[in-house]
Amino acid sequence: MGKSTLFNRLTESRKAIVDETAGVTRDRHYGKAVWNGAEFSVIDTGGYVQGSEDIFEGEIRKQVELAIAEANVILFVVDVTTGITHLDEAVAGMLRRAKKKIFLVSNKVDNNERIAQSAEFYGLGLGEVYSISAMNSAGTGELLDDVVKAFDDTANEPETDLPKFAIIGRPNVGKSSLVNSLLGKERTIVTPIAGTTRDSIHTRYNYFGHDFILVDTAGIRKKAKVKEDLEFYSVMRSIRAIEESDVCLLMLDATLGIEAQDLAIFDLVVQNRRGIVILVNKWDLVENKDTSSAKEMEERVRTKLAPFRNVPIVFISVLEKQRLMKAIEAAEKVYANKSQKIPTRKLNDTMIPIIEQTPPAFTKGKDIRIKFVKQLPTKNPNFAFYCNHPQYVQESYKRFLENKLRENFDFSGVPVEIVLKKK
Ligand code: GDP
Repeated sequence: MGKSTLFNRLTESRKAIVDETAGVTRDRHYGKAVWNGAEFSVIDTGGYVQGSEDIFEGEIRKQVELAIAEANVILFVVDVTTGITHLDEAVAGMLRRAKKKIFLVSNKVDNNERIAQSAEFYGLGLGEVYSISAMNSAGTGELLDDVVKAFDDTANEPETDLPKFAIIGRPNVGKSSLVNSLLGKERTIVTPIAGTTRDSIHTRYNYFGHDFILVDTAGIRKKAKVKEDLEFYSVMRSIRAIEESDVCLLMLDATLGIEAQDLAIFDLVVQNRRGIVILVNKWDLVENKDTSSAKEMEERVRTKLAPFRNVPIVFISVLEKQRLMKAIEAAEKVYANKSQKIPTRKLNDTMIPIIEQTPPAFTKGKDIRIKFVKQLPTKNPNFAFYCNHPQYVQESYKRFLENKLRENFDFSGVPVEIVLKKK
């Protein structure tokens, strides 16, 4: 289909702008993209393979239903070299009935002759056909211009100064149990506030001296007609929760440890530059615990999180109500870390001597000098280091700067961005 190529095109624009996440993305199916200042998540549904029409009724139907239910905008990618297939017709039939903005994308339009061939897809009854070549980017700019225009501005968050926390994790780790434990019994003392999107409930928790908004997307589970275990579905839900929150509480199952699926969700949080706390739940089920058990497990988890290891990890049991308040306090601390603005004077007094002690290596015969650093006035921590040859500063040195920042200031649980600028 060339769908993956398009996906890579969309998400690499982001990589070019922020390279801090380079090397941490383990999954190629979800990514962030920016176009004309609009930031959005791109999800590759997986799609279908040519010649596998018999499986349409199963997996494909589910994927299309999910996209219709969950996405803001749908890009339906067809292949100009094959023309309209039976599967295309079946998918188009479902999409025509959907009340979602659909972009019909004719891919592999690498030459003028194929532009004419693309006209065939008007026959699918989905309106305008966008001709692109994902391979060489032709047409993707026009497509993206229209895609970002179609985003629903009403989905923007309402103004609130309270921190927003989301509980995320793969199925069965105990997310609903934790939400119920925090909100369930105290229903009378929590105030439901207007949700920001049709599918999530934002509840204010103002009790025991804590005041925050809990973002709950679990409710949409009942609405979806598809099987719960579909990975795509749980990812869609995670993305929504992540996007609507400031800090994510990523739950793991203590009996399973940290696996690829957990790391994929962790990467989504980092890509979205949200704060993060890891909760190892069901600690009650771990037998023969001694004082070093938690330390050992913590080390194992941290090793998997590398290079972003500087994350709080709390061992909890929702069942036995163990350390739930500690989990909340950790999220509040991460929120404070994420919101802090370090005075320029203090930043320079700390970082410049470190840089003088261990300057960047000579590269291409250039003597690289970093003279000044300041935190940019962005929502997420972003530090600009001013330098005579910013393009020659190596990734490893940026890592070094980030580590030194973390040693001297508390950015535990917070993705930090380092940029080199010309001075
Ligand atoms: P979700 O899919 O992440 O929302 O997970 P649920 O909240 O539905 O929990 C899945 C299962 O794990 C349920 O049977 C819970 O009772 C159980 N569970 C949740 N938390 C704990 C815990 O701390 N200890 C134990 N032993 N079981 C738990």
